[in-house]
Amino acid sequence: MRISIDPHSGFCFGVVYAIQMAEEELDKSGSLYCLGDIVHNNMEVERLKARGLKIINHEQLSQLHDTKVLIRAHGEPPETYKTAIENNIELIDASCPVVLKLQNRVRTSFDEAVETEGQIVIYGEAGHAEVNGLVGQTDGKAIIVKTADDLAKIDFSKPVYFFSQTTKSTKGFEEMKAMIEERMQTFQQSSGEDEIFSSNDTICRQVSNREPQLEKFSTQHDVIVFVSGKKSSNGKALYSVCKATNPHSYFVSDTDEMEKQWFADAESVGICGATSTPMWLMEKVAKYLQELNTVTA
Ligand code: SF4
Repeated sequence: MRISIDPHSGFCFGVVYAIQMAEEELDKSGSLYCLGDIVHNNMEVERLKARGLKIINHEQLSQLHDTKVLIRAHGEPPETYKTAIENNIELIDASCPVVLKLQNRVRTSFDEAVETEGQIVIYGEAGHAEVNGLVGQTDGKAIIVKTADDLAKIDFSKPVYFFSQTTKSTKGFEEMKAMIEERMQTFQQSSGEDEIFSSNDTICRQVSNREPQLEKFSTQHDVIVFVSGKKSSNGKALYSVCKATNPHSYFVSDTDEMEKQWFADAESVGICGATSTPMWLMEKVAKYLQELNTVTA
């Protein structure tokens, strides 16, 4: 059985940067608070916790004073920065530059929407840290859509400024965009009014560029093992690309979720993962498969 790891999988630059910042501080002081899981991968979180990283939530943040707290790549809403000033907390801000740029774009469109009575619509996961940061740019007014059912929340007689969470799938975004466009056109035909529809594909290229690469990689192997934390949004999106291309694709968080029968007839196995999947974890999966290979050979 040939076993290969996708060279394009593994941490994106945003996650690399956040982990570097955390490790630099841990090297100096041996302890650091981090607001939320530093990355949506439990194995990597556990590794950093063992080095002194302490994961806190927003309620715990409001009770902390005079300390340092790391902001992870997902970014934060303005209230978090306000709390930090009030409590004399030094923020080590590892918000990804791609997310910060998106926050700015959402804020600028929100200012325009206030003038035009428009709506900010975000294609994303309600409650996801990045989405919370984006909603925070709109005084909590943004509408979050994930499925066609959510479109009932939009008033199609008013302008729509449409954005995507950075880690969603391109296909899902395009489908949602087409549905909004269609409903706006239907409304306009019946009312004779012409409304603004500003659609912004703000999916991170670190995610969308991986889609065609993973499609290709998935066709090159009999079985695909996709390694990702279960909470990872881009993990779900990228796994669906593999599964659609190669039905023998399996999602695992660690080796204990792997089943030997998946590989019974496989001549080649490809290992890949999300932008939040550490290389060491994909290497662990490869080692497990090599051992399995030796036992069954
Ligand atoms: S996926 Fe893109 S936006 Fe998200 S942390 Fe990585 S580089 Fe930044």
